[in-house]
Amino acid sequence: MAKKYEGPAIGIDLGTTYSCVAVWQDQNNRAEIIHNDQGNRTTPSFVAFTNEQRLIGESAKNQAASNPTNTVFAFMRTKQTLIVADAKRLIGRKYSDSVIQNDIQLWPFKVVAGNDDKPEIIVKYKGEEKRLCAEEISSMILMKMCEIAEKFLESPVKNAVVTVPAYFNDSQRKATKDAGAIAGLNVMRIINEPTAAALAYGLQKRANNVGRRNVFIFDLGGGTFDVSLLTLEDDSFDVKATAGDTHLGGEDFDNRMVNHLVKEFKRKNKMDISGNSRALRRLRTACERAKRTLSFDTEATIDIDALYDGVDFHSIITRAKFEQLNMDLFEKCLDIVKSCLADAKMAKGSVDDVVLVGGSSRIPKVQQLLKDFFKEKDLCSSINPDEAVAYGAAVQAALLCEGIKNVPNLVLQDVTPLSLGKAIDGDVMNVVIPRNTSIPTKKTRKYSTLEDNQPYVSIMVYEGERMVASENNLLGLFHLSVRHAPRGLPIHVCFSIDADGILNVSAEEKTSGNKKDITITNENGRLSSKEIERMIVEAEHFKSEDMKHVKKARAMRALDAYLYNMKKVMKDNSVTSKLTAVDKVKISSAMIKGEELIDDNEQETFVFVDVLRELESIFESAMKKINKD
Ligand code: ADP
Ligand code: MG
Repeated sequence: MAKKYEGPAIGIDLGTTYSCVAVWQDQNNRAEIIHNDQGNRTTPSFVAFTNEQRLIGESAKNQAASNPTNTVFAFMRTKQTLIVADAKRLIGRKYSDSVIQNDIQLWPFKVVAGNDDKPEIIVKYKGEEKRLCAEEISSMILMKMCEIAEKFLESPVKNAVVTVPAYFNDSQRKATKDAGAIAGLNVMRIINEPTAAALAYGLQKRANNVGRRNVFIFDLGGGTFDVSLLTLEDDSFDVKATAGDTHLGGEDFDNRMVNHLVKEFKRKNKMDISGNSRALRRLRTACERAKRTLSFDTEATIDIDALYDGVDFHSIITRAKFEQLNMDLFEKCLDIVKSCLADAKMAKGSVDDVVLVGGSSRIPKVQQLLKDFFKEKDLCSSINPDEAVAYGAAVQAALLCEGIKNVPNLVLQDVTPLSLGKAIDGDVMNVVIPRNTSIPTKKTRKYSTLEDNQPYVSIMVYEGERMVASENNLLGLFHLSVRHAPRGLPIHVCFSIDADGILNVSAEEKTSGNKKDITITNENGRLSSKEIERMIVEAEHFKSEDMKHVKKARAMRALDAYLYNMKKVMKDNSVTSKLTAVDKVKISSAMIKGEELIDDNEQETFVFVDVLRELESIFESAMKKINKD
């Protein structure tokens, strides 16, 4: 068994433009995305050095405009003017690497070759020139993410899982691990970003049930676009193919909007702001905000006071305009998707799941293009795409830790959050599929009719943990007509849940072939996670009370069954003719007492038990006498 670590352990998505941290919360059965001190769930991957201090995250990004050459955008975009270094592209590479040499020409700051041909960034910090390697810059972001988690957890954090792109080579992975060590963190494991996203959706659990599963991960972030095709089988995640563009992402969409608005400002005010880096920076910030708004609204406003030379700028941009400005880029994304599938020699129809990752995959047009391409396939998008990687990293971290109980019982719709069952006689919940069963699943149970010539049986389907059926959540009810038959006619009831969490309950009486069923989807009447939590707590609370109810129902059923059998025997002339008159009277008055008791269910359990014993002793001693004769 793999080594177990001590918790709490966190998952960190060390992103190109934004980073995100999450932690598994056993009591809630899910990972929690942790917000930073500004209340945001993702934190800019920025580090800035000033004469007084070093800033990381939001504060670094906020002052970037006034201090561009000393702001190290940890993993930066080369196309913008104020950005200084690209640690995610520098990390684990040699200075002489052609990728670095190409980008260096665009950077307004200095990168030099250090020991071993390792690239080093030169920044000015507290008045002095300082040389930093990419690992050191990454470590500062990791440290910040760790601090955010410690504040939330109110305890020190030592262990973490950190994610990297699937195409990272060994030295880039090792360098990322070193960055953790510099930050004082033990990096328990480095995992691929697409693997983390698949973990977040619990897709490996589905693979365990249905064998092999092909998962397509579409990650459109701030500055990079990565697609990966994973094959999941049992617990293993195989990267079949990756493709992408290291200069395509949200910032390009921002830039398109910026260029459009620069033109508009020129037209309206006869002024060109394209050479003014401060004005451009303010406009770019406003554009990013507007772009986010356009993901849920059809238009967004831009309002900037004194943008240039004291002139205010006000504009409205529609979603349609935004899409038009970026359509060629969106289509380029789709071309890359196609080339990834071609590399893997896989038809799109063989893809089982499509997972959306990266903040920019929230853009409705991008989602629509993808939906159209993958046809009827639903996109996995119920976890925020810019949080899915951190979520999965937190899941992996918890799996590596001691004392975490609920992780395997993950995630979203992959297990039943509450037990499912049907009511049986006496308002007792008879569980067919216990809570936390992996789905898809199918279980059949045999029940029987309770009365002679019963015209139909009622199937009441409940979810919940209470032993008293009516205290649970009633999901559905149906009646199955049955043929006339004595009590005890078998009815087969089958509960099946498909991979999407849709429950179908069918009941069948096999001798007549009568069958009926009901389908219960997640939408109708299923509970929210808060309600589920409350129900589980309540079930624990009412356990002993419920147990009393169940015991009484059992005692009543036992008495009823005994009476039924007695009645059958007492109808048989060959038996009754042999009974003495005294025994006959004794038996029939005991039976009347029993039947009255069944009708009066106010009595305590022991009364039913006692009466049953009395019946048994009267009946058995009478029968013994007959058998002797
Ligand atoms: P990274 O590329 O660093 O992994 P993310 O996955 O967090 O980063 O993506 C960041 C990008 O997502 C940014 O360009 C941001 O503007 C963009 N983004 C975030 N939320 C939205 C949204 N609601 N609509 C459109 N773009 C968004
Ligand atoms: Mg990312």
